[in-house]
Amino acid sequence: MAEDQLSNNEMVALSGHERTEQGDWVTGLHPMDVLLRGERLPHIWCQGCGLGTALTTFIGALQWLEKNQDWNLDKVAVVSGIGCTGRVAGYLRLDSFHTTHGRAIPFATGLKLANPELKVVVFSGDGDIAGIGGNHFIHATRRNLDISIICVNNFNYGMTGGQAGPTTPHGARAVTTQYGNFEHPFNLPYLAAAGGASFVARWTVIHARRLEWTLRRAMMHPGFSFVEIIVPCSTAYARWNPEGKGLDPEKLGRRGLEVMKHYQQIGKITKDTHPKDASIRVDQQGAITEIVEGIFTDETKPEFLDSIHRQAQVAKKRWAAIKKALDERPRLSKRSDRISRTEVQLGGFGGQGIVSAGRIIGQAATIYDRLEASFTQSYGPEARGGAAGSQVVIDSDPIHHPHLIEPTSAIMMSQEAYTKYVPMVANGGTLCIDDGLVTLAEDHRQDLKTYGIPATRIAEELGNVRAANTVMLGLWAAIMEAVSKAAMRQSLADSVPPKTLEVNRKAFDVGYEKGVKSKRGN
Ligand code: SF4
Repeated sequence: MAEDQLSNNEMVALSGHERTEQGDWVTGLHPMDVLLRGERLPHIWCQGCGLGTALTTFIGALQWLEKNQDWNLDKVAVVSGIGCTGRVAGYLRLDSFHTTHGRAIPFATGLKLANPELKVVVFSGDGDIAGIGGNHFIHATRRNLDISIICVNNFNYGMTGGQAGPTTPHGARAVTTQYGNFEHPFNLPYLAAAGGASFVARWTVIHARRLEWTLRRAMMHPGFSFVEIIVPCSTAYARWNPEGKGLDPEKLGRRGLEVMKHYQQIGKITKDTHPKDASIRVDQQGAITEIVEGIFTDETKPEFLDSIHRQAQVAKKRWAAIKKALDERPRLSKRSDRISRTEVQLGGFGGQGIVSAGRIIGQAATIYDRLEASFTQSYGPEARGGAAGSQVVIDSDPIHHPHLIEPTSAIMMSQEAYTKYVPMVANGGTLCIDDGLVTLAEDHRQDLKTYGIPATRIAEELGNVRAANTVMLGLWAAIMEAVSKAAMRQSLADSVPPKTLEVNRKAFDVGYEKGVKSKRGN
């Protein structure tokens, strides 16, 4: 029986090496096979494919890091997507993950965030990283998370038969572009650098030694590193494209080698080249005539997890200060009387503090009177000057529906809000208006208990027109008694800038007094 017809098990038996307890085996015949899952070999890649070289340079780089940088390879995880390159995850004897198409980068991102100690490397193809997963790639480049992306570019979707992909050169032929690719390809190093990747490089596999050195540097780089590896796809891409011309199409096994020779001739090794000049030139027929290679970006910038940790420290300090202030707040006794569901609709225009007023009521009810409350808000198309509304629900019992059903009271500070919201108020409900700004309609609802106060004018006289909403809160609190006066005053103190507290307290008291008098009928 010919050797290539033997099964894995038969080959293992022939080699004279036993499977280990884990079920995989090391022949000891090759210096790299400690990092290969022997039981998965032979690999599925075509004769003449460059993927084997790409993988051996990667393994070489890992072994160098283990030996010279004390890397613990148990702390290295490799993630692949789908496609020919995606097989790498299965062949490596490391923690490795073969994910769904285009999702290698988000998977790797999650892995790194969950276990920052890991060195996470994505090893996948151009279709996976720049096509199906292109959006993940772009966003990964801008984050500078400390992961490495090794993108093996074979210029087409090789595994599925050679369809044009995101890196197929303009004019090049593929199964789906038999008359030449009409799209322009991504320049992957430029794309990565434009997104913010802090280490960017490209090599063809013919420059295996430089590639291996670069992979070492990329993996040691503290941040997001991207290395594009150009490989010959002997079966699919090279079949259709002129750089393979001069070959006997029958000699499939040599086609990859010929492409390698071509890459050697046209590869242009550069130093300090800007990523936008990292071009892959083609002639009119789409034949590749120049591949610029080298390390294009190598810079230090804040790493994603470091940035998060720094922000977390700041947030922790701020939260400690907030918690101290919250703990030091005066505690009022819980209201003993029951408050049935009270709904308040506040309305006016942006800049009047309609949303703040709603929040002050809600906070007073929950924090100080220890009732249940919900608060929602709505804006017009523009915030300042446009229509503004906020809604509060207060109850002694849990609130199962946070939105207003039928407001039992309303605070209106503009004519537009009056027109819009008053029809919604429940029969017999309470309406408080700034009567310097709102004129009651001729057919104003007689079922409503309506109270007016020139809140804006009073606030102006007190020296701060922005306290007009506080005047209205005082009026509403005295009339409705849904929230205690003490709770409202505390909530006010929590909410307004300290330097305006005095004027706001005065404004509240003026409104409150007016409310008490109005209720008495004075
Ligand atoms: S289809 Fe192309 S890229 Fe895939 S294994 Fe074959 S030669 Fe390599």
